[in-house]
Amino acid sequence: MLNFTVGPVMSGQEVLEIGGQSAPYFRTPEFSAIMFENEKYILRMMNAPENSRCVFLTASGTGSMESCVMNILNDKDKVIVINGGSFGQRFVELCTLHKRNFTEVKCEFARQLRAEQLEGLEDHTALLINMHETSSGLLYDMKMVSDFCRKNDILLIVDAISSFIADELDMSEMGIGAVITGSQKALAVQPGISLVALAPEALRRVEENPEVCMYLSMKSALLDGVRGQTPFTPAVTILLQINRRLKGIEENGGIQEERKRIAAIAEEFREGIKGLQFETVSENPSNAVTALHPRKNNAKEIFRILKDEYDIWICPNGGEMADKVLRVGHIGNITPEDNKKLIDSLYDMKKRGLL
Ligand SMILES: *Cc1c(COP(=O)(O)O)cnc(C)c1O
Repeated sequence: MLNFTVGPVMSGQEVLEIGGQSAPYFRTPEFSAIMFENEKYILRMMNAPENSRCVFLTASGTGSMESCVMNILNDKDKVIVINGGSFGQRFVELCTLHKRNFTEVKCEFARQLRAEQLEGLEDHTALLINMHETSSGLLYDMKMVSDFCRKNDILLIVDAISSFIADELDMSEMGIGAVITGSQKALAVQPGISLVALAPEALRRVEENPEVCMYLSMKSALLDGVRGQTPFTPAVTILLQINRRLKGIEENGGIQEERKRIAAIAEEFREGIKGLQFETVSENPSNAVTALHPRKNNAKEIFRILKDEYDIWICPNGGEMADKVLRVGHIGNITPEDNKKLIDSLYDMKKRGLL
């Protein structure tokens, strides 16, 4: 089965081999050394400012989103939440649940956030955004958002779960306070771990805020992290796989090379399908995903045919868009040959009158 979904995605052979072994005992200096390395690699790849830290939580990406809302923000914050799809909506729900004082900025599906939409919100103290709104494939104008936050001294918290590695992300340059990512997107490891990189300003907030939870506590994660450990049994195997993957990226020329590889796969796909009956959905697409509206057949039906007759997974959308939009991921261990197989299959479907 070839997997072109937006996650979990295909992992490389070296990563998969680790998955075939029992997890080692982890309260050891050897495992701590791996955790220190993971933290160091992540902070370097995000170009985090000096004295930043990274916590690894055994949870899917949403666990880290929730941890940020609980641990970095507090009752006194006035939070801006950018909502352009199902992941923006998730931040809205988290802020509602945890009783944050927030202003929702709604964006039309797959349409760019404009500076005017932030006018009048200068007195807010934090901004939550999903850098790439994975439900629509839209990559937000992070330069505009980062300028706005810097100018108004607003803490910028970025969900880069599907953007890290795939799109340009620089914590220092963008002045980002915290970045969230997860193991099963462009990190191309199996699901189970999400992580948050915290710049000094976010660390100070975590330190000063009262403790409000146990399992997702950043305070405890940071404290144990000082000795390369986690408060509870982590997804040990996933952390070892992350280590292998990050090392692999470094060995192959670094994160910029990996980004270029993903961008090339995306570009090749977008060029390759120009002769097909698809409309591109998103205004400024991320390298991670192409969202498409099929003019002829139903999106869910195309997903089913590719799965059942071609052994290929792509991603249907949920909710209102289920029949209209499908998404093709460009992240994970996809080779140019795999890409060609997908494009050829789509042309074959066209020949059969199914597309
Ligand atoms: C995948 C994703 C998430 C997290 O999803 P989980 O299922 O909790 O891992 C959050 N935000 C974005 C933008 C994503 O792409």
